Amino acid sequence: MNLEDINAIKKLLSVPQKIVIVPHKNPDGDAIGSTLALWHYLQNKGQEATVISPNDYPRFLKWMPGNEYILNYEKENRQAKRKINEASLIFTLDFNHLGRVGQMEEPLENSDAEFIMIDHHQEPADYANITYSDVSMSSTCEMVYNFIESLGDTLNITTEIANCLYTGIMTDTGSFEFPSTTSRTHRIVADLIDKGAENAKVHNEVFNTNAPSRLHLLGCALKNLIILEEYKTVYITLSQEELDNNDFKKGDTEGFVNYGLTLGEIVFAVIFIENTEEGIIKISFRSKGDFLVNEFARKHFNGGGHNNAAGGRSNLSLPDTVAYFKSLLENYKKALNS
Ligand code: 5GP
Ligand code: MN
Repeated sequence: MNLEDINAIKKLLSVPQKIVIVPHKNPDGDAIGSTLALWHYLQNKGQEATVISPNDYPRFLKWMPGNEYILNYEKENRQAKRKINEASLIFTLDFNHLGRVGQMEEPLENSDAEFIMIDHHQEPADYANITYSDVSMSSTCEMVYNFIESLGDTLNITTEIANCLYTGIMTDTGSFEFPSTTSRTHRIVADLIDKGAENAKVHNEVFNTNAPSRLHLLGCALKNLIILEEYKTVYITLSQEELDNNDFKKGDTEGFVNYGLTLGEIVFAVIFIENTEEGIIKISFRSKGDFLVNEFARKHFNGGGHNNAAGGRSNLSLPDTVAYFKSLLENYKKALNS
């Protein structure tokens, strides 16, 4: 963040504001971790703040401190709308296009609050008064740490804030595995542990709360894995019927796509998940190395994301989506084999 932005934020926070903090739709660990961390920080500073999630999120994120105060825009619509209408300052975290908040887009568009964006995705839109965007960052949580540091407040990082920030850094770096993990990431994490982050507990809460049905669903997904050796690509499909047979709950398929990349030669892994309620196939793309999955998702599947982790969707049937996907690969053969 530059000095001008830091001073502008200091000025905004020097008077009482009505603050709303928004993560993207289908929020993940980084989205919930960063919004709750910022919420604790602002509340502790004496500001009135509310986190409003566009929709529900997985059970394995609901242990986080402050979770019970998050408003769900779909379920608590009137209250959430009122908060947005009254807001004088709105933080949007872990996304950079208002299209990523689903039904909340309209009230946000119509708000005359000041907007502050904190985000690490590519190609930020131009809706915020202050845009703190940095694609080199491991996570939005790492950026919220930087934000707090810029305001000279690292000593005010409480155990609650430390646990929230630790969660998002851990989940967005694949437990410190992805190349976005830097020495600075580890220094921040070390400081968070010094400030009370319970690293083993957080890991346990996020990763070790499986129901048996989720392991059976993983078994089903891995059985469905198809290897396309000539394209160094693997894909997995999960039909709505397979989800239903294994008592699918939101978040259950998180991380399944990554198994494909554990095959040594593979550089591109994809999962297609049928959602009959929304009438779409939700797709996740992952890669190792230089193959840019965000470009692929943007170009062919109405999506986007990071270089090595992106998502998108298709309105075709599951078999037709897979057939279309396979038909695209010949054009990428060289890129996938370079
Ligand atoms: P996931 O596959 O875990 O849902 O998402 C991986 C990454 O891609 C995340 O950083 C997420 O923000 C981004 N992403 C997922 N779905 C979409 C989408 O439909 N549109 C865009 N622009 N990004 C997406
Ligand atoms: Mn993130």
